[in-house]
Amino acid sequence: MEESECIVCFSQYNEDEHRARCMPCGHTMCSKCLKKTIREVSKMCPKCRQHFTAARLEELPVNFSLEGMIKSSKSLKTQLELAKPCISIFEESCKKAEECKKQSQKIFKEYEEAIIRKENIIAKLQEEIKTQKNARRKMEEKVVVLDEKLSGLKEKRNSYEQAITPLNISESIREVFRWSVEVQNEAEKLISVSQGIENEIDQMMRTIRVKDDHLMENSALSISNEQAGLHVYQDKHTYNSSPAKLKMGNLDKKNQEV
Ligand SMILES: [Zn+2]
Ligand SMILES: [Zn+2]
Repeated sequence: MEESECIVCFSQYNEDEHRARCMPCGHTMCSKCLKKTIREVSKMCPKCRQHFTAARLEELPVNFSLEGMIKSSKSLKTQLELAKPCISIFEESCKKAEECKKQSQKIFKEYEEAIIRKENIIAKLQEEIKTQKNARRKMEEKVVVLDEKLSGLKEKRNSYEQAITPLNISESIREVFRWSVEVQNEAEKLISVSQGIENEIDQMMRTIRVKDDHLMENSALSISNEQAGLHVYQDKHTYNSSPAKLKMGNLDKKNQEV
């Protein structure tokens, strides 16, 4: 510090032979250099060359304020020395903070870039959404048209269904026809069964007829055998000559004979 040194010998001011003293002009010089100057014939300030008349050093006042300032400065220097470790720690912290700051700036930049990319993606997506919305609106319009067509077709179908209802009657007729075919088949079966029965009856009848003929032949034979006796009997009772009555007559005759 420039003010803490003598302007002539550049020695540090102290409270001994280099004590700071003021000249009338206001400038300061050390006591040793002032003693020399006082001894000279022409006494003047080396800084501003103003002459002064002091014969003794004690006539020039001590610069106490400068001394105070120097003391304070020394105290500050001591404090600064004490604070050095703290300062180095602080500097280290500052260095780390600076690195942190750089790192943060880098991350921030990356984030910013990422945000820009995302914003671009969002913009594209929004564009896509817009396109899809338009497409959906068109589809909805088509759906409305199709709905109208569908309702028209439904009406047509209803009318066709109404027209088809009489056709269902023909289906019933077909059903009845099927039934009638079944009934016919059943009837045919019954007819064949009845024919079988009829054949059996015919057979039986033929058998009966044969037996009957046989019986008749036998009866006729017995009648002719008894013919002679009958002539006598006919004279007394007027009987018809039918074979049955003749038979009866024979029986009566037999009864009479018993
Ligand atoms: Zn000096
Ligand atoms: Zn001066």
